[in-house]
Amino acid sequence: MKVLVCDPISPAAIERMRKCGIEVDVNDSITSEDLVESIAPYDAVVVRSRTKIRRPLIDCAPNLKYIVRGGVGVDNIDADYAASKEIRVLNTPGASSHSVAELTLAFMFALARPIVQATQSLREGLWDSSAKKRFEGIEIQGRTLGIIGMGRIGSIVAMRAAALGMIVLGYDSRTIGPVPYMMMVPLDELFARSDFITLHIPLTESSHHMINADVIAKMKTGVRIIDCARGGVIDEVALYQAIAAGKVSGAALDVFENEPLTDHKLFDLPQVIGSPHIGASTHEATARIGDEVAEILIGLSKEPC
Ligand code: NAD
Repeated sequence: MKVLVCDPISPAAIERMRKCGIEVDVNDSITSEDLVESIAPYDAVVVRSRTKIRRPLIDCAPNLKYIVRGGVGVDNIDADYAASKEIRVLNTPGASSHSVAELTLAFMFALARPIVQATQSLREGLWDSSAKKRFEGIEIQGRTLGIIGMGRIGSIVAMRAAALGMIVLGYDSRTIGPVPYMMMVPLDELFARSDFITLHIPLTESSHHMINADVIAKMKTGVRIIDCARGGVIDEVALYQAIAAGKVSGAALDVFENEPLTDHKLFDLPQVIGSPHIGASTHEATARIGDEVAEILIGLSKEPC
């Protein structure tokens, strides 16, 4: 089997695959133009979220049998078209759940207490008598957290938030059985009651711009919004307007509609904090993703063609 690794995965995983006889080429910063030129001989490609595997690229890959996505969301892959060409798309869905859940909690704390803005103020040498008032926060315990998407990541966030003394509400498009420390509620009730709202759903046609101006109007004034799922689930213009108008108190975003970005109007607002899609970027998740990718490809390399 000949594999091209297009995004960074752990060196240990590459070593392990090579030891098992897989021919692995690594070009983990490959451009889409170079990928079109070089994909033809490969049986499998490994991608994270950076590399997009779209229809025109698949048409240049006559030998491709497997697309392995190290991570969860496969919205960077034209999976239906791949399936029509008998190319299997595989992922490592659980490997980063704890890391993303922990970033979500970190964001929630940083929205409750303006740690990022206060650090910036220290860097700028601004420690005046107004500092305590300017950086006044809120307590998390006793507040209500609304979780949209109660899958792997959402469930971990729910458990941790309940342990922090929060009232936890959940909504999911599928039926979820009773969970002792939280309550599943209709979406409008979640919007009306939550002090914090966090999104843990995939980006699909139905979830695109799920958080828009109409929906924000149903939320509590002063709500804080966290998105560690996918940028496209929030209408960023509507979010900007709602924060500027004082309806939304703050937002923490790990993901954006168009990535990568170097500039964004949302960052003109001091109430917005963020990170460049690093939800799964921990030592542990990277190792787990690498292990699972290697496991998948070693298993497939033993299957008869
Ligand atoms: P999951 O499949 O376990 O859970 C997703 C849940 O969302 C499911 O329970 C599903 O029923 C529900 N859902 C789907 N569409 C919905 C909708 N329109 N309304 C309400 N609920 C809906 O997925 P997960 O492992 O928990 O991951 C969630 C998302 O997090 C992924 O789809 C991925 O896009 C994102 N993610 C981001 C990072 C990052 O680096 N920031 C890393 C991993 C995953």
